[in-house]
Amino acid sequence: MAAAELARRGHSVLLLEKAVLPRYKTCGGGILNRAFHFLPASAAAVVETSFNYVQLHFHGEGLQFTATRAEPLVRMVMRAELDQLLAREAQAAGARLLDGCPVTAVVPRPDFVELATGQGTFQARFVVAADGAQSLTAKACGWSPLASLAPAIEWELFLPPAEFARFRETARFDFGFIAAGYAWVFPKRNHLSVGILSTVRTPVNLAAHLENYLRSLGIQGWERVEKHGYVIPLEPRREPLARGRVLLAGDAAGLVDPITAEGISHALGSARLAAQAIEDGAPDPSRVARRYQELLETQILGDLRAGRWLAKFIYHHPRLRHWAFRWQGPRLTQFAARVVMGERGYQAAVKNPWSYLKLLGVR
Ligand SMILES: Cc1cc2nc3c(=O)[nH]c(=O)nc-3n(C[C@H](O)[C@H](O)[C@H](O)COP(=O)(O)OP(=O)(O)OC[C@H]3O[C@@H](n4cnc5c(N)ncnc54)[C@H](O)[C@@H]3O)c2cc1C
Repeated sequence: MAAAELARRGHSVLLLEKAVLPRYKTCGGGILNRAFHFLPASAAAVVETSFNYVQLHFHGEGLQFTATRAEPLVRMVMRAELDQLLAREAQAAGARLLDGCPVTAVVPRPDFVELATGQGTFQARFVVAADGAQSLTAKACGWSPLASLAPAIEWELFLPPAEFARFRETARFDFGFIAAGYAWVFPKRNHLSVGILSTVRTPVNLAAHLENYLRSLGIQGWERVEKHGYVIPLEPRREPLARGRVLLAGDAAGLVDPITAEGISHALGSARLAAQAIEDGAPDPSRVARRYQELLETQILGDLRAGRWLAKFIYHHPRLRHWAFRWQGPRLTQFAARVVMGERGYQAAVKNPWSYLKLLGVR
């Protein structure tokens, strides 16, 4: 996304990707409506399924809520296809793509950044590092490690057609199968992407929890399963997210929604902000860095701070969560739907005293 934005503005852009595209990426592939609007129109071609309604289940609490909208709340993709499409868009805008080309070292110099790769060494005036939660660039440039990495697994399940038909109509999120986390079923065109995550790093057998979840939904007898796991950074890095001529974006910066663990919106959003900061501040690296931090603060970081506060209540105070959803479940579900649609952010809700009064039933 950053490469496309910068190439479109006339910059000379090199896009380096470790894997050969298209490549599998461990991800549910759920594109919330707020993320979809960042994507080019061509992305419609890789949408496998769309859901205008989404179910929230609270297992063991007897609570279930549905959010329904005229426009899809969430669209499902396979990341291999979406990511390749974005790389092609960047190429069409003028960026040069080198895939199968891991960056092996990043050395900041006064006037440029040196990038060593399997296909030679390159010099760049600015680097947007979108190299994921295990970012080599962040390590090489001296950022401290991400504080909160949530383990998550994703299974691609291929069911016989009659079985698949039973589950293909509903995208669902289930709380209560794992402490401080949730599980999901995301139907794709021909299969189900199912997964589970824990927002805490204590050792936990995610596979056993996921099996238990699938059993309880009656999902069984799959013909094939592809099992994947990775980590999701639920807290941004604490230092400023640009240093010298290097800007961190997406998971590399830790820009993931702390409640939903959804990272695509802010990965796309931060990539656009990085491009804008370079456009506004170049050639002066300190102006670029300042501008990036300013843009992130107003558009992403404030909201993530408020989200982390709400996440504590959702994941670490289950009795309080139960009370709130029993009392005001439909209202809270509508709020979640507004966030997903991009109509509302966490920060505005947390700062507004009316939010708390409404939760207590005051009209
Ligand atoms: C199990 C699971 C399920 C998830 N489900 C969802 C979901 O449904 N919806 C959602 O919004 N988010 C989801 N997420 C989070 C989402 O996947 C990430 O937030 C998102 O992919 C971040 O995008 P990114 O571009 O920053 O990083 P990534 O998608 O991780 O991309 C990083 C890229 O950099 C490349 N790279 C890495 N190192 C190098 C190197 N040294 N040299 C060159 N290239 C390199 C990688 O090959 C990769 O292509 C999920 C995450 C997990 C683990």
